[in-house]
Amino acid sequence: MGELRRDPVVNRWVIIDPERAEREAVFPIEEEAEEPIPCPFCPGHELEAGKEIVALGEPGRAPNAGGWWVRVIPDRRPILRIEGQLDPRPEGMFDLMNAVGAHELVVETPEHDKHWHELSELQLERVLKVWQERSLDLRKDERFRQVLMVKNYGQATTLFRHPHSHVLALPIVPKGVDEEIQGVLHYSRLKERCVYCDILREEIRRGKRMLLESSEVIAFTPFASRFPFETWILPKFHLPDFGRITGEEVKDLAAVLKAVMGMIQTSLAFSSGSLILHTSPLQEYHRPEYHWHIEIVPKASKVAGFEWGTGFFVNPVPPEEAAAWLQEGRQARLEGL
Ligand SMILES: [Zn+2]
Ligand SMILES: [Zn+2]
Ligand SMILES: [Zn+2]
Repeated sequence: MGELRRDPVVNRWVIIDPERAEREAVFPIEEEAEEPIPCPFCPGHELEAGKEIVALGEPGRAPNAGGWWVRVIPDRRPILRIEGQLDPRPEGMFDLMNAVGAHELVVETPEHDKHWHELSELQLERVLKVWQERSLDLRKDERFRQVLMVKNYGQATTLFRHPHSHVLALPIVPKGVDEEIQGVLHYSRLKERCVYCDILREEIRRGKRMLLESSEVIAFTPFASRFPFETWILPKFHLPDFGRITGEEVKDLAAVLKAVMGMIQTSLAFSSGSLILHTSPLQEYHRPEYHWHIEIVPKASKVAGFEWGTGFFVNPVPPEEAAAWLQEGRQARLEGL
């Protein structure tokens, strides 16, 4: 199991997980990972993909058989594991705990090679409903303080082409969300208003960064975008928790996501990127002042996508091992002299 370690200066939690596949990208090992054939997420391979946690499909279908529309399975290479205790403990002045949490994979359609903008609105609506369902279910586990949804799309960002997204339940509030909460609280102390509500009113009024406005949400490129073509989608009515979104809002959001992803796909020369859903933390960490939203960054690498969205870094190389690796190289060079 990986470890959660806290940086004592900036309070940033990092997952140190030497079992990660990205290690290959760090250490100079040849052999490039190739997409498995046949695809385990395609219909007919349900058991290879993994036993489903939940699925939407034709009425009366048996679990782990065909006839599904959206399937949720455990991620086979989870960055957090559901079993075990957090066991928070000191190591001298440092804090660490076991990397306990949930890492689920949402297979978004039976169709192997479809971008979000090519899926029907109904199909995207099913995906969003499943995200909401997982958010409501995972919060029953009191170890979890945050549920996040992350999607990496396009070829450069993921080993599996088959459309899928990740649902993560974390035992900590990640720095990315925590920083936004601090900003939201600071702004509401000054102005007694929600900063996201103010942003969306301003964007609607100005219009020059707007991509789309529907009855429930707006999509725009934010004033201080950190990445080229960064796009935010905000619900127009203040709501801290994505888990509490209504059926109407889900339907509307599906239509906007389809349109926005279409704009991104058809306007840019590259077709990969990341999308993250930020929502209020859970249990006693819940903040009614928060305003859930989606952030999209075209063409971010897989790891960068996750880290940008969560402020929660996944490092496949423990620093002790890194030091030993570098020392060994130095030793070899010295002996070679
Ligand atoms: Zn497939
Ligand atoms: Zn708001
Ligand atoms: Zn955010």
